[in-house]
Amino acid sequence: KVRVRFAPSPTGPLHMGGVRTALYNYLFARQRGGDFILRIEDTDSHRFVPGAEAYIMEALKWCGITINEGVSEGGPHAPYRQSERKEIYLKYALQLVESGNAYYAFDTPEELNAIRAEAEAAGNTFAYNYEVRGKLATSLALPPDEVQRRIERGDQWVIRFRMPENEEVEMHDLIRGDVVVNTSTLDDKVLYKSADSLPTYHLANIVDDHLMEITHVIRGEEWLPSLPLHYLLYRAFGWSETQPDFAHLPLLLKPTGGGKLSKRDGDKMGFPVFPLRWVSPQGEVSHGYREDGYFPEAFINMLALLGWNPGTEQELFTMDELIAAFSLERVSKSGARFNPEKARWFNAQYLKQKSDAELAALFRPVLTEKGIEASDGKVEQVMGLMKERATFVSELWELTSFLFVAPDDYDPKAAAKFWKGDNPARIRGLRDLLATVTDFGKENTEKSVMEWIAANEYPTGQVMNAFRLAIIGKSTGPSMFEVCEILGRDETLRRLDAILT
Ligand code: GLU
Repeated sequence: KVRVRFAPSPTGPLHMGGVRTALYNYLFARQRGGDFILRIEDTDSHRFVPGAEAYIMEALKWCGITINEGVSEGGPHAPYRQSERKEIYLKYALQLVESGNAYYAFDTPEELNAIRAEAEAAGNTFAYNYEVRGKLATSLALPPDEVQRRIERGDQWVIRFRMPENEEVEMHDLIRGDVVVNTSTLDDKVLYKSADSLPTYHLANIVDDHLMEITHVIRGEEWLPSLPLHYLLYRAFGWSETQPDFAHLPLLLKPTGGGKLSKRDGDKMGFPVFPLRWVSPQGEVSHGYREDGYFPEAFINMLALLGWNPGTEQELFTMDELIAAFSLERVSKSGARFNPEKARWFNAQYLKQKSDAELAALFRPVLTEKGIEASDGKVEQVMGLMKERATFVSELWELTSFLFVAPDDYDPKAAAKFWKGDNPARIRGLRDLLATVTDFGKENTEKSVMEWIAANEYPTGQVMNAFRLAIIGKSTGPSMFEVCEILGRDETLRRLDAILT
């Protein structure tokens, strides 16, 4: 059975790149009838940010990404928060020491700095690797009883992975294909620290993926450099047989191309990089897609196509359609450039797709707040007429207010152009005509008005523009007959009288 995990570290709000990682994991699991697990990787206490974990869970929920096993859901491998799994990891670190795949290191920061300075003086870049581990205070250099003594007297130690020397590690990535790395380019990563009795990311991640029976690791490209170590850890534990498959997702790039999409890009160009608004512990506020008025479906649809393509022209996908269409084979190797314009386009598409009644329900609170009473029928009609023009629900008031309230002033430019000469008298005639029309359906008013214009040989443009100015106060907007249908006869006549008196 397919089992994937999303394993964020609660170091801040989830970036949209993180949401995309969660989404691809989710789509992959759903398509294969598998499980999607949420594991919180909080072993780095220095980078812990209060509120981040709750934020992550709320964001996934808003996006419609549901979790099978996790911190709030529980499950057969609980707990799912690494800080609550503390006791598990030491045993595994010691197992690696025993098998010769890891060692104790007691070196102090000063000792480390000294040897680093020495390397740099000789023109070498320092790496904690096979060249230095025998020269430092490690269990590879010290006599065994000395190692024991230091541990017993309470010296601080770490356990480091003993990276093999000059070995080609052959790896496979489901997106990138085969990758080979020589271990001589890698260093001896810390796996466990006595100072806080906690594992580092690498150890905890591998141990948990193993214990939680993860079959596929789908994560950001920034973890590709760790892949050789992870392969070697699986081997050192004797778990290669059940090692998960790996897929590393391409970066999200700035709208201008070049470089990773960052919060600063969003601030500069006015788009959110976070799913939800975030207030940092220092009080700094960041925009969120939700609060900026995006529909979660639009956000998810947009994200799904940042790095994956269906191989067809289709752009609009429901979550179920994404589940059916998604494949790791169609995830690109190269970075995906984020386009804020496209994000807005997706939202406009989803807004248009809503039924008039759904939109009316979303818009109703705005009317209530403005103290405007209107029947459901009218609000729905207005939505039907105007939804093509909006990107966000928040724009609807600006776009439709003239259908709810009469103009209290008239656009001076339009007035100068159209409220002159014979036009006021023609509009008086139009008022008298409309007073006799009983069916205010747009076909009927259009027919009556056009016949009247023709019979009087009036210039159609002049009359219609003056009519528009009188009814909505400006020179642009939807068809006047649609407007009159929505306003009804009484309101239409009231507005005409207002400008004529
Ligand atoms: N905790 C890591 C992160 O925050 C998880 C990386 C992985 O998926 O292996 O990205």
